[in-house]
Amino acid sequence: MAAEDLSPPLEADLSVRGFLGHESMRRGWGRGFESGRLGHAHLVAGPEGIGKGFLVRRWAAMLLCRDPQFGEAPDPQACGHCSSCQALKSGNHGGYLEISTEGSGPVEIARMREILHFLSLRADGRRVILIDSADQLREEAANALLKILEEPPAETHFLLVSHRPARLLKTIVSRCQRWLLGPLARDPFLEILDRHGVTGDLATFLFEGAGGRPGAALLLGEAIERCGGIGAFGQILGEVPDDPRDLVSLTLREGESFDRQTVQRTLKVIGDGLWAFRGETLESRERAATRTLMLSHLARHLERFGSADLVIEAVAMVLRSENPREVVSRIPRVMGTHWA
Ligand SMILES: [Zn+2]
Repeated sequence: MAAEDLSPPLEADLSVRGFLGHESMRRGWGRGFESGRLGHAHLVAGPEGIGKGFLVRRWAAMLLCRDPQFGEAPDPQACGHCSSCQALKSGNHGGYLEISTEGSGPVEIARMREILHFLSLRADGRRVILIDSADQLREEAANALLKILEEPPAETHFLLVSHRPARLLKTIVSRCQRWLLGPLARDPFLEILDRHGVTGDLATFLFEGAGGRPGAALLLGEAIERCGGIGAFGQILGEVPDDPRDLVSLTLREGESFDRQTVQRTLKVIGDGLWAFRGETLESRERAATRTLMLSHLARHLERFGSADLVIEAVAMVLRSENPREVVSRIPRVMGTHWA
């Protein structure tokens, strides 16, 4: 079995060339690992769609691997065929726990009990607990995590992922080794897109539009291709479909339907799209920035209160309105709830 088979492509390609960019940081991780000085808790932070999730899953596999390889990559890699790598591939590694909040909203204390249960089981070697995104922990859950980190169990590594680290408890952050991912340079960015079959004008457009965040660029690229190209996508942003739910079909994959998760993804794609189409004038850039900001408010709203229908209506209003701030400020009254 090839190392790349461990997980879907890009998701966690563990091969030497499986992860591009962020070399100096990965070298730092490799040095820490080799010298046995890696801490037990790590915070991997950076903007959305920059590759945090891929990097951290690669590191999780490496920490658990029985035969980690020091090759030409800046950081060591999982071998891809030991018993641990095989167990990770089949999704039943007894030493690996992943708490993912993607699209599922805040993490309640009940989910933290999964961690406590996991830690109570007899361990056979090293364990890894991955929390993506850690800033989604509700207060009680965050306090429970802090308690665990204060008295870390032996041979257990915590990998926390966050694109909003400012929202984490400072006491949690201070217990972590911190790894900050910045935007990718043009070459590795274009190579990642090329591996996903995105080349030429679209790739250049996405580099300029998504600012070195390959994950975000691939999502946006998918939506652009789905609606027939860069021009057609720009037109949709300008002339919003009568039924705003049609916006979600820009990002729907096979078997998916209109729900909170797909609406959340649509918000990201449209936000990135607005910014990619921001234009050159100060006025057009301000306009794009305001709309993008309003969409991020809507994304938070969806995270907390979960009305996918209402949020997608509001997205259409933000796109159509000359005063998107006013549209968003009206929402708390509509919902009869607090707007944070
Ligand atoms: Zn292995």
